[in-house]
Amino acid sequence: MTLRLFNTLTGQIEPLLPADGKALRMYACGPTVYDYGHIGNFRTFLQIDILRRFLKLTGTTVRHVMNITDVDDKIIRNAGESGVPIGDYTKRYVEAFFEDLEALRIERPEQIARATEHIPRMVALIEKLAAEGAAYKTDDGSWYFRLKSFPEYGKLSKKDLSGMEDGARVDVDEYEKDSARDFALWKAPKPGETSWETAIGSGRPGWHIECSAMAMEYLGESFDLHCGGEDLMFPHHENEIAQSETATHQQFARHWMHVRFLLVDGRKMSKSEGNFYTLRDLLLKGFKASAIRLALISVPYGNQLNFTFDGLIESTKAIERLRTFRDRLMTGKFPVGENSQIQEAAKNAQEEFLRALDNDLNTAEARAPIFELVRAANTAMDQNEFFAADRDAVLPVLKDFDAVFDVLEDRDAEPTRRALAWAEKEGRLADVAPELRAAQSLSDEQIEAKVAERLAAKKARDFRLADAIRNELAEMGVILEDSKDGVKWKRK
Ligand SMILES: [Zn+2]
Repeated sequence: MTLRLFNTLTGQIEPLLPADGKALRMYACGPTVYDYGHIGNFRTFLQIDILRRFLKLTGTTVRHVMNITDVDDKIIRNAGESGVPIGDYTKRYVEAFFEDLEALRIERPEQIARATEHIPRMVALIEKLAAEGAAYKTDDGSWYFRLKSFPEYGKLSKKDLSGMEDGARVDVDEYEKDSARDFALWKAPKPGETSWETAIGSGRPGWHIECSAMAMEYLGESFDLHCGGEDLMFPHHENEIAQSETATHQQFARHWMHVRFLLVDGRKMSKSEGNFYTLRDLLLKGFKASAIRLALISVPYGNQLNFTFDGLIESTKAIERLRTFRDRLMTGKFPVGENSQIQEAAKNAQEEFLRALDNDLNTAEARAPIFELVRAANTAMDQNEFFAADRDAVLPVLKDFDAVFDVLEDRDAEPTRRALAWAEKEGRLADVAPELRAAQSLSDEQIEAKVAERLAAKKARDFRLADAIRNELAEMGVILEDSKDGVKWKRK
């Protein structure tokens, strides 16, 4: 099975195959570590996670490189304001980023590349561009890329850049989205700024050159796939193409994947609108990391996702349904035999699941048949028409689903616990949902004691007391589940 993926560069859905026939070489733009990641960032990383997991599931080896931008305008400004070296400033955000990836079960790329550890590679690339006549130095000692030297500029974003002025320059890392200017490759230091002494002068790299240099360092001059959020298409990715292809006279990335942005409650997410959320904000509100993962991946990457709390609640319930079903499947005693309808349903679900992902990673269409199968199997179990061979047919389907979606195992307690510890350290306990705070305020032993007390009350046929204890625990965010093996409890 070959993944067919939309290619921004050609505007077509095309097969994605490793050019060397061995490993798919892919580069994804990583975070700029000046703050905590918001859910829009994580939607992008999650969709790239879906891509790599599906590739692996279908037998493709992946060589995935991601950068960490640990020097840029904002980092320099913020570190300066805090009076610390940039390395000290970015450290906590780098750590937070990896913690967040882990909470969301995003697999680590095979290679993480930090900008500050690749300065010589960037300098060498700028020297090459200078030799090609495509880079020039200004009076202050900065270096710029001459856009006019790359006539194909704009081929990725398909922007009409006919009004482009020769020699107009921009030196900030983020600038207007619609004007093309010669962009900074290397910035001479302003007083007090972090800088490196190099053959092209003292200074620091521009943002765009980082990605070109590090992608080519680990993947070669020409590689299979480049991914990122849609906001990076212009100018960042156009600039990466211009620099790289001017330097190497080869195609940089053959295939480009862009993940669309999300809306929150139908509006653009922004701090001023009050609808801006980091992963940590949502964990403190009591949502589980797995539910956040599912909510952010269930709409295909090429479509805009409208993120809502109702959607998160729906995801929470969907995961409960899957986990309850899986437990029933694993612990149930099913008679020998098979139900041909379930056998058929399992086969179809498997095929539809793979077909949907194969078709430009359509996650919405991929999850639907799985939930359909769960419903059919639950009904069959209720009617005692589910057999041992049916379990053997359904389990591998769930396994494949989870190899990509990864929500079945309940590992939600740890991210929540870590978010609470972080909130305490940051003085943000006021943002913690009261229920969540209550549930965490009880130790496991205290909960066990309450559960035992309730059991004793039930044995003594004091159902009023038993119910009261159940309600008291529920108010503190602890859910009890009576089963034939006794009482199980969990924090909500
Ligand atoms: Zn990049």
